[in-house]
Amino acid sequence: MTKYLLKGGTIATCEKGKPGVRVFKSDVLVAGTTITKIEENMAPEAGVEVIDCTDKWITPGFVDTHRHVFMAVMRGNHCDWLLTEYFIKSPARHLTVALYRTVQGDLTPDEVRIGTLAGCLDALHNGVTTLLDHFHAANTRAHLDAALAATLESGARLRADGRVTLGLAYDVLRGADVAPHVEFVRAARAAGARIVTAHALVDEHVTAWRDAGLIGTDVPAGARGPRGAAWKVLKESGAGIGATPVDELGMGHGNPLALEALARGVKCGLGADAVSINGGDMFTQMRTQLQWSRGATHENIRQNKLALPYKNEWNSADVFRLATLGGAECLNMGDLIGTVEVGKRADLLVFDTNTPNLGGAADPVTGVVFHAGSEDVETVFVDGEMVKKNGKLVRSWGPVAMELRKHADAIRERWSANKLEGEWKKWWDTFGSPVW
Ligand SMILES: [Zn+2]
Repeated sequence: MTKYLLKGGTIATCEKGKPGVRVFKSDVLVAGTTITKIEENMAPEAGVEVIDCTDKWITPGFVDTHRHVFMAVMRGNHCDWLLTEYFIKSPARHLTVALYRTVQGDLTPDEVRIGTLAGCLDALHNGVTTLLDHFHAANTRAHLDAALAATLESGARLRADGRVTLGLAYDVLRGADVAPHVEFVRAARAAGARIVTAHALVDEHVTAWRDAGLIGTDVPAGARGPRGAAWKVLKESGAGIGATPVDELGMGHGNPLALEALARGVKCGLGADAVSINGGDMFTQMRTQLQWSRGATHENIRQNKLALPYKNEWNSADVFRLATLGGAECLNMGDLIGTVEVGKRADLLVFDTNTPNLGGAADPVTGVVFHAGSEDVETVFVDGEMVKKNGKLVRSWGPVAMELRKHADAIRERWSANKLEGEWKKWWDTFGSPVW
């Protein structure tokens, strides 16, 4: 059994059932897949690899509760699009509303495979050790097999205790006629789908699913989330939200609601959503959510000519929780991952604090939330296995990058920006804004 002793680091972690983030100095012993001891000044036993963590921070691996991993193969192609524009230019195959099948419905299994592998490695590089991959490119069985093989190969944890567990990504919750979906979702659960994830576009869809008996603790709704009645449904059912602040702000989904979920006692985590648009890190998601929420509060105060309060309502510790234990709880994995505690799986990050980003900083919570980047994530463990070491992925990234570029270029060649723009313009001139 491989053992690591992380010596002399500063640990920052949430603790189950307790508010805030605990920061303390200690050694951490990892044996096999598990954190087995947290104690000061542990003497290394024979056969234990000691990692000097002087001037280092140790945190749980980040948990992403809503990400489309394969979209790494389309990186940069639609950062400036609205959601409506996306639905016409690049819908998933089953959502095609345009007059022809566009980008995602046309991807090959090989393109999906390299996108998934690169997307998982991107996550690990950024310290995201667990992902809920909302995979919507199962154009054929071969696409599904290719994505699954790449996921297993990557070493990332996809939702559960055997590192990779299958669930059901049900693309969009439907409103008026739920009946056809009831049978489908029940069949998936009966076949062993451990989690069901869906994009929730409007409240009525969430309540319709509740009325049909489909909402349960295994349903983290996707990026859009509730606005009114659905809050109550989510709280009462124990279903969670995978909130994705950057996508939501940019594409027109509505305002980021992760901190409101926290205040309402609804389970919630953060996610990068489309990694074709966003980077694979959680730093940006934490910062965006926190600063947007603060900005909204401040704007309300200014508009109503009120005085600024004594303190900010939301702080770094709140979004640190969302990105770690909050996400784990959202995926019903709070007993397994999401904190640095004895008995938890060793999904751990070690940050070097002598970098240009973190040099001189003393508090790991504000440091991680406001200043850190992937280059500061020196070491990443998943299940006690080192997947990033000395700031570099253990798996060689170079060959993956070459293959990724080849496929990404081929996609852009088949579906040029001009061609897609032409289709959007044609739609717009004929029908105006799409309504869903
Ligand atoms: Zn999504």
